Amino acid sequence: MDDSLFINGKWHGGKKTFTSLNPATGKSIGSFALGTKKDVEKAIEAAEKALPEWAGTPAPKRGEYLFEISRLLRKNKEKLAARVTEEMGKVLNEARGDVQEAIDIFEYMGGEGRRLFGHTTPSEMNNKTAYTIRKPVGTVGIITPWNFPIAIPAWKISAALIGGNTIVFKPSSDTPRCAADLVRILDEAGIPPGVVNMITGSASEVGNEIVTNPRIRGLSFTGSRETGKWITQHAGIKKIGLELGGKNAIIVMEDANLDLAVEGIIWGAYGTTGQRCTAASRIIAHEKIRKPLEEKLAGRIEKLRIGNGMDSKTDIGPLINEKAVEKSLQYSIIGRKEGKLVEGGKALDTKGFFFEPTLFTGVKPRARIAQEEIFGPIAAILHVKNLNEAIRVCNNTVYGLSSSIYTNDITRAMRAIDQIEAGITYVNSSTIGAEVHLPFGGVKQTGNGTREAGSEGIHEFTETKTVYIDYSGRLQKAQIDNR
Ligand code: NAP
Repeated sequence: MDDSLFINGKWHGGKKTFTSLNPATGKSIGSFALGTKKDVEKAIEAAEKALPEWAGTPAPKRGEYLFEISRLLRKNKEKLAARVTEEMGKVLNEARGDVQEAIDIFEYMGGEGRRLFGHTTPSEMNNKTAYTIRKPVGTVGIITPWNFPIAIPAWKISAALIGGNTIVFKPSSDTPRCAADLVRILDEAGIPPGVVNMITGSASEVGNEIVTNPRIRGLSFTGSRETGKWITQHAGIKKIGLELGGKNAIIVMEDANLDLAVEGIIWGAYGTTGQRCTAASRIIAHEKIRKPLEEKLAGRIEKLRIGNGMDSKTDIGPLINEKAVEKSLQYSIIGRKEGKLVEGGKALDTKGFFFEPTLFTGVKPRARIAQEEIFGPIAAILHVKNLNEAIRVCNNTVYGLSSSIYTNDITRAMRAIDQIEAGITYVNSSTIGAEVHLPFGGVKQTGNGTREAGSEGIHEFTETKTVYIDYSGRLQKAQIDNR
């Protein structure tokens, strides 16, 4: 068994364990500790104890730890990328991107240590100064999914650390080894004991305790809308950040560069085997170009090579687990009733968890495959007559994460930017490709309004304190004096 409980700077195993599988082979890559409620309590205790010193460390100094983490991640990039492919399945080149995102965010957030901007503003009184500062939330919980097993924990941990918080982290049970690899690097960079603690284990025991424990003052969660809903009902009063699912659309207008759009759709729908919150699962095509678009897409899909992500010839790796294959299979059965199958639709009869890149066409906006997040390599083409209808169909979902429009008409592009209900809109580019110095997050049921990354990523992990300094030497009453 690999030690995977990290409490107060020490690694431990657990009495019970669970296994993590390589999704390309279905074989075990190791067993990890099934943490308990007691382990979470110990981690909270360690984090609370470490809080005053970490919060009291000047932010630029905290930033130096983050720079060191970034340096170590860069040094270990190839090794870590291979571990991501082995445990999560994405192709090696994408796994390198996963690690690079972590390198970038630790570097970016390290720099935030010298900013952490508040603002100053005039007081309505003479001889009085007013400004804001940013303070840590306290001990925070971080709960992450498996699809970016290094990058997503890195986004949250880097912002929490620079904000002066201490952490209890629960990674996905599908990728505990990647999480342990990341935490070992934090440890090697010299993060003091108790500042970051990790408990692997089940959602029902470890996850629930982190969510419901009142000593956890802030909670940052990325995962499904269902779990997000449960969290809002059970977390009690704490500062919560939720980054949930998506049903992202690419609009292709009749004036678009079709070859460019095809490349963007293939990358958006089938990159990471469709397992990205920003994956493009709806293609909203103008009826004038729908036929050539369909044909070009079918031609590209047929050439995609499915296989083990470690093989440099592979375009599409496996799904994360057997349950995900079953889910894609169910939706491909539903899709056959709701539209016409253009390509794919089957699981591969081989070891590992593989599913063909799948495309449906003639799908109606209210169809289940156009509404529900599948999180697999399945996309649906919906036909529209004009931009107004395209935007209406695009907005016809409970989610609002990413979106894209392919057009060479600036007026159409600007109208789409203005009217699409999503946290991110791309023009002439796919729905995926977030950069760490820009805010990331969604509207509607994709979240609760927080943004990660960029300077806004700090807000989730800091509280604003407003400061008034009166140097008049007398009692001045706001709203009453000077009126
Ligand atoms: P999930 O089932 O919600 O699980 C996410 C994490 O929450 C895992 O660590 C899981 O633990 C834990 N968890 C589940 N139920 C819990 C509960 N009741 N209390 C506390 N913790 C709980 O989601 P997933 O399948 O891992 O991830 C896929 C989803 O994430 C998709 O919907 C995708 O769109 C979304 N996502 C969103 C973003 C974004 O930024 N908006 C980014 C990536 C992914 P176990 O692993 O132990 O079950």
